[in-house]
Amino acid sequence: MRTLVTGGAGFIGSHLTEHLLRAGDEVVVLDDLSTGREANLDAMSDHPGLRLVVGSVCDREIVDRCVRGVDRVFHAAASVGVLKILEKPLQSLRTNVHGTEIVLQAALEHGVPILITSTSEVYGKNSRIGLREDDDRVLGSPLKSRWSYAEAKAVAESMTHGYTTEHGLTAVIVRLFNTVGPRQAGQYGMVVPRFVEQALAGRPLTVYGDGHQIRCFCHVLDVVPAMVALLEDERAHGDVFNLGGTEQVSIGGLAERVIAVTGSTSDIVHLSYEQAYGEGFEDMRRRVPDSTKALERVGFRPRRDLDDVIAAVAAHSKQRREVEHA
Ligand code: UDP
Repeated sequence: MRTLVTGGAGFIGSHLTEHLLRAGDEVVVLDDLSTGREANLDAMSDHPGLRLVVGSVCDREIVDRCVRGVDRVFHAAASVGVLKILEKPLQSLRTNVHGTEIVLQAALEHGVPILITSTSEVYGKNSRIGLREDDDRVLGSPLKSRWSYAEAKAVAESMTHGYTTEHGLTAVIVRLFNTVGPRQAGQYGMVVPRFVEQALAGRPLTVYGDGHQIRCFCHVLDVVPAMVALLEDERAHGDVFNLGGTEQVSIGGLAERVIAVTGSTSDIVHLSYEQAYGEGFEDMRRRVPDSTKALERVGFRPRRDLDDVIAAVAAHSKQRREVEHA
């Protein structure tokens, strides 16, 4: 099987690429290395089945060349991370909307099935415990940059739906909830790598707001096999699936867990959202998935718990620090 992974040098994409190579696929990775890093593919760099193409999903010609000759596509390239979105809202809109359409179009033209990676962010401020795929979206103003990510991803979903229903494209959409693990970078805002890096460096862990906001974190290694299984299951085609963890944790509680698991002596400090992200930022108080659909379709059941995730992220972070300081 020949597979294209867009964003394959990113956090989720590189784990997906590794999983596919292990399963015997030949994998073409298309990545513009904006937030992805070639180093994320280090463990696989000698693999004869891997080919890295450096380029953007917004480049129609490159995308067309990459899709030609593959049997399927995983579209994981995106502008992600709250800080990145706030800093470059236009670029993120273009990549996530325009780039996705180019990849969808190429998949249609070459007649190959595609998995589109969407996000729990599309539910916005809906704080229902156990968000289901057909639940309502509750978003703030489109002029608040945070929501532009949700807007873009939702447009990408609707576009996928249109390509499926109007043109007969074979596609599956997954909505990933707070997915975490080794290789995720803290610099774009994601809380787990940030807390782990702060704890390992003995710096205070920066909890934003009152720290009572709730998230469910899921190890990337639990998510990746489900993505593959969903694209391989014909019954999943044309549909959308949540993939997320089951354990609810407050961000204040997460900070304590990170300190405990890493054995750090760091303190915890609270910063206002304004201090962290600037004026007008809106967060969601609670984001809890219901992944029953994916459980019923492909047996999705996360096996790794939060302490496993923190330990894995800390081990990776320590290793990277050693390499960088060697
Ligand atoms: N957060 C925090 N400290 C940080 C980074 C993030 O308290 O250094 C908070 C953030 O405000 C949010 C939660 O952690 O409430 C999860 O943030 P992340 O950006 O990882 O994911 P998302 O907001 O998309 O759930």
